[in-house]
Amino acid sequence: MTVAEAVGRGGEQSLLGTAPPPPGDGALRWSRFVPATEAEGPGRRAAVWVQGCAVRCPGCFNPQLWAVRGAHSEAPGQLADRWVAAATAAGARGITLLGGEPFDQAGALAVVAEAFRDAGLTVMTFSGYTLERLRVWAATRPDIARLLAATDLLCDGPYLRDLPDTTRPWIGSRNQSIRALTPVYADRVQAIASAGGADSLEVRISRDGTVAVNGWATDAALAALLDDLGIRADRPSTVAVATLEKENPS
Ligand code: SF4
Repeated sequence: MTVAEAVGRGGEQSLLGTAPPPPGDGALRWSRFVPATEAEGPGRRAAVWVQGCAVRCPGCFNPQLWAVRGAHSEAPGQLADRWVAAATAAGARGITLLGGEPFDQAGALAVVAEAFRDAGLTVMTFSGYTLERLRVWAATRPDIARLLAATDLLCDGPYLRDLPDTTRPWIGSRNQSIRALTPVYADRVQAIASAGGADSLEVRISRDGTVAVNGWATDAALAALLDDLGIRADRPSTVAVATLEKENPS
């Protein structure tokens, strides 16, 4: 069921012809988890970047997450308990699953998503596959059907760098869709479909000088933001959070 959607346009000839790999060994391979961010979906949310992606969009901002090599690998049940506790303590209202390709690890991530749902939190999932294809595969892949069923808000479709989107939040290109699969975010998706919405970007600078970025921006916008913050690699710094508004034609 789709309750509301801001459907993407264009790029039909560019759709990538990949299919998800077969179900894995049940472990979840992941790269990074944050208990709270406001740049990866509606409201304050936890977010996990999984590792491994068979889609491999040219121009992807996270090519370091294509291979599973170097990933953390853990049983999803243990991770889910830990992440629900961390998200709740941080005041998060849900979790966002991104990567990497979440549906390449649908079974393991369904365990995590269902744990958040059981705790009264919401689930947002990004995918480089389109919802239409996911539904076809779900007919014979219970793991894909299970993750779809545990998702409230889905951003779907490959990233096509020749079709940059500057009018809707969270996604990178105009062909991608934002869909409410349950009523939780239906009003928000309807508003985006009719009037677009602003995006945001968080830049976190750790005391050891590590810079981590949540959200989405063009290379030029990100470079300008970091320049404005005066970030230097040789200077320890406290955490900084900055917000960058996308152009919003509404
Ligand atoms: S699906 Fe996402 S992670 Fe995978 S290549 Fe495309 S943009 Fe990158």
